[in-house]
Amino acid sequence: MPKFSIIAIDGPAASGKSTLAFRLAAALGFLYFDTGLMYRAITWVAINRKLNVLDEIGVSRLAENVQIEVLPPSLSDGRPCDVVVEGRDITWEIRNPDVEANVSIVSAYPGVRRALTQQQRRIGLHGHVVMVGRDIGTVVLPEADLKIYLDASAAVRAQRRFSELIGRGMKVKYSEVLEKVIERDRIDTNRDIAPLIPAKDAVIIDSDNLDADKVFEKIFDLCND
Ligand code: C5P
Repeated sequence: MPKFSIIAIDGPAASGKSTLAFRLAAALGFLYFDTGLMYRAITWVAINRKLNVLDEIGVSRLAENVQIEVLPPSLSDGRPCDVVVEGRDITWEIRNPDVEANVSIVSAYPGVRRALTQQQRRIGLHGHVVMVGRDIGTVVLPEADLKIYLDASAAVRAQRRFSELIGRGMKVKYSEVLEKVIERDRIDTNRDIAPLIPAKDAVIIDSDNLDADKVFEKIFDLCND
């Protein structure tokens, strides 16, 4: 029996936290909830509607009004869930480089964070959840029973993201992926509101020299000790 009900997993881009959280949630019979996809979905809608992502008021208004549906996976194509906005399945589109290049700008807007944090907190407080993001342990669910901060060097994280994009048939260069990972870290870490930072009571794990299985075992043990 897990001794925890709310598990928060935070960390920088491509640190492997989503894979870890998905696996952990399945093993514990908990809900897996990735908050990053909400910021990605708002960014996707802004781009799709040809809104200027630098228009803070317009993008914040969008975040208050757009309904993001996160549903059980309808296809076995590696997706952990379906992301649907206005009837359109955008599960894979929110992973594309144009969204990645703009999501940190959108997620730094206080209005956007207010709108999404409220929804995330409501979902998280039901318990039996593994929630993933940048500010789950610090802002969204500071009362979480277990907080993990999963870190890795930018080079290792960029290599993982590069392999993922190539695997999806995209033409990308490693050097460009690395540059974007570093830029996203810079914005996420330096923003005024809910910056990426480990919670004081988080267990910090560096996954540079640990494979996904080892990281999972370490955290699964913490849940069941
Ligand atoms: O985790 P993922 O890479 O999908 O997150 C995409 C972006 O969404 C992050 O770079 C960050 O700017 C934003 N984000 C955030 N707070 C969260 C989750 C994601 O600001 N809780």
